Parts: sequence; C-alpha cells; structure tokens
Amino acid sequence: MSGLGKGIVASSVAKLLQLTGLRVTCTKIDPYVNYDAGTMNPTAHGEVFVTDDGGECDMDMGNYERFLNTPMTKWHNITTGRIYSDVIKAEREGKYLGQCVQIIPHVTDVIKNSLKNLAKGYDVLVVECGGTVGDIESLPFLESFRQMELEEGDTETLFIHVTLAPILDVVGEQKTKPTQHSVQELRRIGIHPYILAVRCQKPLNREARHKISMFASIREQCVISCHDCSSIYDVPEILKDQGIIDVISDKLDLKNRNIRWAEWKKVTKSFFNFSGNVNIGIVGKYVNLPDSYVSVYQALLHSSAKLGKKLSVEWIDSERFENGNKDEVKFLNKFDGILVPGGFGARGSEGIIKSINYARQKDIPFLGICFGFQLSLIEFARNQCGLVDASSQEFNPNDNNSLVKFMPEQIHNVNLGGSMRLGKHDITIIPQTLANSIYHNKKIERRHRHRYEFNQDYRQVVEENGMVLSGHSDKGRRIEILEFPSNKFFFAVQYHSEFSSIPGRPEQAFEAFITSCI
Ligand code: GLN
Repeated sequence: MSGLGKGIVASSVAKLLQLTGLRVTCTKIDPYVNYDAGTMNPTAHGEVFVTDDGGECDMDMGNYERFLNTPMTKWHNITTGRIYSDVIKAEREGKYLGQCVQIIPHVTDVIKNSLKNLAKGYDVLVVECGGTVGDIESLPFLESFRQMELEEGDTETLFIHVTLAPILDVVGEQKTKPTQHSVQELRRIGIHPYILAVRCQKPLNREARHKISMFASIREQCVISCHDCSSIYDVPEILKDQGIIDVISDKLDLKNRNIRWAEWKKVTKSFFNFSGNVNIGIVGKYVNLPDSYVSVYQALLHSSAKLGKKLSVEWIDSERFENGNKDEVKFLNKFDGILVPGGFGARGSEGIIKSINYARQKDIPFLGICFGFQLSLIEFARNQCGLVDASSQEFNPNDNNSLVKFMPEQIHNVNLGGSMRLGKHDITIIPQTLANSIYHNKKIERRHRHRYEFNQDYRQVVEENGMVLSGHSDKGRRIEILEFPSNKFFFAVQYHSEFSSIPGRPEQAFEAFITSCI
C-alpha cells in the first residue's frame, strides 16, 4: 500500500549496488493517469520534486537523487498519462499501420521500451512501481514486467515485493497474512517475487520470517526485514546485514560483491553524532503533512547532521497567525530559525507575511524559498517602504502593477500542467554579499518552479530601504536572491535550493542558515 516506504527500499537497493561499483539508476512508475505530478495536490501526494530538466516528478525521485547522488531526468518518472500520450501520438501519426491499438502489445511495448531506454549506459535499473498489487491502473505495468522477465531471461530480472507485517495486538505478534495474500495476488498476475522486503515496526522475528517463507514459498534468506529505523540512510546497511547483496548477485549473476562502505558510512554516522539541538519552525500552508516538503526537511537534516546538531522541526500552519490575536506570532520566538518554503495561492499568505515580519524585526535567522522569497518582498515593501498595498498578482490577477507579478513568458500559457518556469537555470551572484559568502562562486545553477516573480519597477525603492538583491538570472531580467545586511541572517531565494541537497553535501544556503541558527 502507499506510504509503505517502497521508495526508500528501491533507493537503498540501488545504493548498495552502486557501492559495489556498478552503474545504477532508478525509475519511478506512477500508474495514475496524470501526465506528471505537477498538477497534483502536495498534501495528498507529497511534494512535487523538480529535476534539472524541469520535470515535475514524484517525491521518490528526490530519494533516488539523495541516495545515489545522480541527477534524474523527467523521463525517469513514468506515468500512465505519459505512456498513453506516446501511444496516442503514434496512433495519430499512423505508426500502427491500420492495426487495432491495444493495451497488449502496444501499451506494454511502450512501457518496456521506456524501461530499456532508461537502462542504457547502466548495469542495473531499479524500477519502482507505485500503487498496490491488484490496482487496475498498475496492471499494464505489471504485465510489462511479466513479459520482460520472459523475454530478457532469469538472470536479467529480479522482483522485490514490498509488503507489510503489522503488529495489531499488545502481545506484539507480527501478522504475516497481508504478506501471504499480496504474494498470492502478485502470482495470480504472473509475477513471482524473488525477494520480499517486509516492512515492520520491529525487526521481523524468526517465527514470522519462517511463516512468510513457508506460506509464500520464498527462501528464508530472501525474506528481508525492513523495520523502522531512525534514519532512512541506514536502510542500505539494514538490507546488507541480511545478505541482500548476495541474494541479488546470485540471481543476477553479478560478480563484485564487495561494498565500498567508508564514505557512505561517514555520512550515515553523522545522522547520529550530535551535541545539542537546532530547533526550526517551518511556516507554510501544506504543513499538516510533512511529505509536502520532504526535500526541505531533508536539506535541513543534511545541514544539521553535518554541523553535529540534532534537528527538530515544527510545522506551523500560517493561518493560526490570521486570527486577529496580534500576540499569536510571538509563538515563533522559541525557534532558532524560521523557514518559509514554496507555496501557491492566497490562503494563509497573510499569516506567512506576519511570520516573516516577525523574523525580520526580531532578527531571527530566516530562510525563504520561492513563495517565501516572494512574500518576503511583499512584507518588506508593506512594512518598511510604505507600499501598504504591496501584493502578488497571484492574489489579485487584474493588478498588472503588483510587486510580485506574473512572468511575461507565462501570459500565453492556458494550461496549468508543465507551464511554469521550471528546472535548472544559471544564477549570477553579486560580489561582496551574503550570497557570495555562502556560495563562494560567481555563478550557481539551481532548480525553479514558479509563475510569478519580483517586479523590478520596485527595485529602487526596496534597495533604498536596505534590501540587497544579491543574485539574478537571465541577464538580470529576474531577481533570484534577497538579503538584509542589517540582519544576522535573512536570506530568501526564488529558486528551490532544497532540491540540490544531498547527505554529506548540504545545499549551501541551508547550511549557512543552520549555522546561523546554531
Ligand atoms: N506561487 C508562486 C509562483 O507561482 C511560488 C511558487 C513556489 O513556491 N513554488 O511563482
């Protein structure tokens, strides 16, 4: 079922294989009919992860990048929408030469070809298929896998089935029935799992492992316990300790089984060696579900781990600051730092603006990202520059003089899907600024996902009042970074720095923010 941790299992298996020296990449299949994740609600599906090439992808793609340190592309996230749009395009172009176009073989052929293309140049492709066995949407994908095993051969394919062994009673018995049944369900459609990755709260006990092995008819050493642990980056080691590399290597006829642990271990250890805490308040709109901002959380975690502090994060719904009680915002005083991440739409934005104002006035370290950048501009314009009506065109579509305005390139876009300014763009950093001391570089590349931007008609007034615009892109046409030299640390960026952070090498703005919080 969803939320089980298939993404972490897939990333961890891929990581282990990569550590043996193989060239490994991952792909995520989302069987929903959407073309991509861009139009999906982050509170229901988790964050939209943006790739260098501007793909709006499932959040598991972020896990792949963070585990493998390999950039993904939009093509690594396959959806039913994408597959069908390829099939329909080919049909319109007459490529099927009069045939009746069918799920088998036409849709399944497109799926198999997509996977083969992604595997080119790699030794192993780890394919993660979302959803639950038995879902109607995933059937064409599972059927393609079944065919691939037949066509490619036994040593070329291996199935890992991620299942659940819940504990329901006070005695703590691990229930194996859901696993037994889902294995049967999978076999019914022709797929025989070779390894079972069993999610459970506590390590799978001997009895449960034996029962699963016997009833599911899978060798005991192929029943792997994937129990809860405090750091996702420990999962590769948990799998390795149960011999998963030998099992996979035997099946796929892979020669080298020695894992080069040293560097990865150094990183994973840093998530446990702490002296003291760092306490961050994240103020936003989709905060009731931390999955909506998983990359932001990870980037904070990478930074705090590197700096030896235990991260604690509180997610704060900005609407609580809109209730008329002026003192409510003082709640933010307890944090070492405040972060405002990306977001869309007017709801909750006034509460965010109040929080930003509080951070700026009280000189609490502040990091603003995308929406957080735009609302920082509005806060400053209203409260420091006398522009009391300053706002975003996102909230007042008819106001063409907004401080934050619709990007001219966006005006002709009628569709919402894939139409924002997306993906990697160059950013020029202004010398002698905080930005420059953070990045030590004249140019950086970061990923974007926005429709609105700072209206440079207001440039002079914000600069005269003390704001420094320390980074720009597209030859100065867009402002990317703002900061206040009079504050200890107030830094806001139009780009999404969180998508460039990996364990052991945190994104620099996050690291500088946490350093300042400490
Ligand atoms: N809603 C804003 C825009 O479209 C910010 C987007 C974001 O935070 N990703 O520009």
